[in-house]
Amino acid sequence: SISAIGNPEVAAIICRKCAIAENKGIEVEFDIDCSLEDIAIDSVDICTVLFNLIDNAIYELENCYEDEKILTIDIMQQDNEYIFAIGNSYPIISEEIINKIFKQGYTTKKGSGHGYGLSIVKKIVHKNKGRITVESFEGVGTIFTVFLPKK
Ligand code: ADP
Ligand code: MG
Repeated sequence: SISAIGNPEVAAIICRKCAIAENKGIEVEFDIDCSLEDIAIDSVDICTVLFNLIDNAIYELENCYEDEKILTIDIMQQDNEYIFAIGNSYPIISEEIINKIFKQGYTTKKGSGHGYGLSIVKKIVHKNKGRITVESFEGVGTIFTVFLPKK
C-alpha cells in the first residue's frame, strides 16, 4: 500500500492526487516497491515534483476523449537512486513538442496554464543532482521518469 513509501508527506500528496484522479473517472495503477528512507532530498522538493507531474497527467487524461484513462505511478529503487515514473495513457506527444515542454512559459492549456510547472520540476531535480526524462509511445502513453540519488 501507499504507506509503504515510508514518508508521510509524499504518501499524503499521492493519496490526495489519486482520489482526485479517481473522481474524474481515471484509473490509477500503482507500483510502489520501496520505501524512501534513504532519499537525500527534502520532502517539500519531492512533493513539488510529484504534485506537478501528477497534476499534468490528470489534466491531460481528464481532457481527452479516450475511454480508457490510466494514470500510472511507479516508485522503484536501483543501485544508488530512487526512480519515480508518472505516466498517462494519453496523449502521445511528438518529439518536436517534447523538446519544448520544459521551457518556461510553454503551455497548451488555453486560459488555465502558465507553463512553469515542468521548468520548476527540472530545476528542483537538477538542484538535487537528479535527472528527468520523458518518453512518449503509441500504446504506452507519456511517461515522465525522475531519478533521484540516495544519501
Ligand atoms: P502547464 O501545466 O501550466 O501547461 P507545465 O510546464 O506543467 O505547464 O507543462 C507544459 C506543457 O507540457 C503542458 O501544457 C502540456 O502541453 C505538456 N505536458 C506536460 N505534462 C504532460 C503530460 N503528462 N502529458 C502530455 N503533455 C504534457
Ligand atoms: Mg503543469
